[in-house]
Amino acid sequence: MTNPLTLVAGGAGFVGSHLIARLLDQGDEVLCLDNLQTARASNLRLLEGRPGFRFIKADIVDPLPQAVTAEAGRITRIYNLACAASPPLYQLDPEHTMMTNVVGTNRLLRLAESAGARLLLTSTSEVYGDPEVHPQQEDYRGSVNCTGPRACYDEGKRAAEALAFDYARMGRAEVRVARLFNTYGPHMHPEDGRVVSNLICQALSDRDITLYGDGSQTRSFCYVSDMVDALTALMESNVGMEPVNVGNPVELTVKELADHVVALTGTRNKVVYLPLPVDDPRRRRPDISRAKALLGWEPRVGLAEGLEKTCAWFAEELARPKMAAA
Ligand code: UDP
Repeated sequence: MTNPLTLVAGGAGFVGSHLIARLLDQGDEVLCLDNLQTARASNLRLLEGRPGFRFIKADIVDPLPQAVTAEAGRITRIYNLACAASPPLYQLDPEHTMMTNVVGTNRLLRLAESAGARLLLTSTSEVYGDPEVHPQQEDYRGSVNCTGPRACYDEGKRAAEALAFDYARMGRAEVRVARLFNTYGPHMHPEDGRVVSNLICQALSDRDITLYGDGSQTRSFCYVSDMVDALTALMESNVGMEPVNVGNPVELTVKELADHVVALTGTRNKVVYLPLPVDDPRRRRPDISRAKALLGWEPRVGLAEGLEKTCAWFAEELARPKMAAA
């Protein structure tokens, strides 16, 4: 009997590195693939040397390395977290973002098919676009602008979902699809450009606090350990042909989030208002009834606790010499 192996594509990223740490904690052997486009070397350093961990630098847009396909006989689980997820970063190379989701996901699905492995796709709340239905349930089909600057990500993920469900319908691979809502926590990239990392890093340094638009748009923020609980539970569940929302349903405006960060850090930095990015969703909140019913999962870490932990981590991180923090 050979040892089962779990493949995590995008495993050096923010959520991916937390997921791998959890899998290693439970004794799994993990092969991490990452092109290091948006990942942090320091995330990898936390994993390297741990028993059962192996890293291969690879881009899933390209044919999978022989070192990966050679392991097909042992791979039983594939997590696909590979894709830049922050709007400013995924828009830098939109063709690559789209191809990562379509071509890359297809390569992993083919590997799942040949390995007889189960694949979990991390999709996104962005499949709902700028939603007319609130909160968002999984059967809402979304309002995405397919010609806008977010389309490379939104439509790429929608195509990836379509591919995954087609593989499942045709009996080619077992799939699970999670739709991740905004997630935050330690190990985010300080330059990631997302609201939580931006606001905290600005508050902890001498930079202005940037609010886009009037700050009245809403988001719902899930702490990363809750997200990892949901992903591992979904992977091992019997939920097949249904996408599952995973996120924290506590909704707040971006301005309210900034107020929390200001109170927590005691910053006196100026708050400045910048133009709202094109197609920025006005509101977003997951309906997590399905995850609750099918996985027995719901978030456990509240915003105050999560933000406190995240601020503490960023404070240490920003104090570290630049090279070590890269
Ligand atoms: N945002 C902001 N200030 C920032 C970064 C983002 O006000 O420095 C806003 C952004 O316009 C959006 C929300 O915060 O309305 C969440 O943005 P983020 O990039 O984190 O993720 P999104 O949910 O848009 O994918």
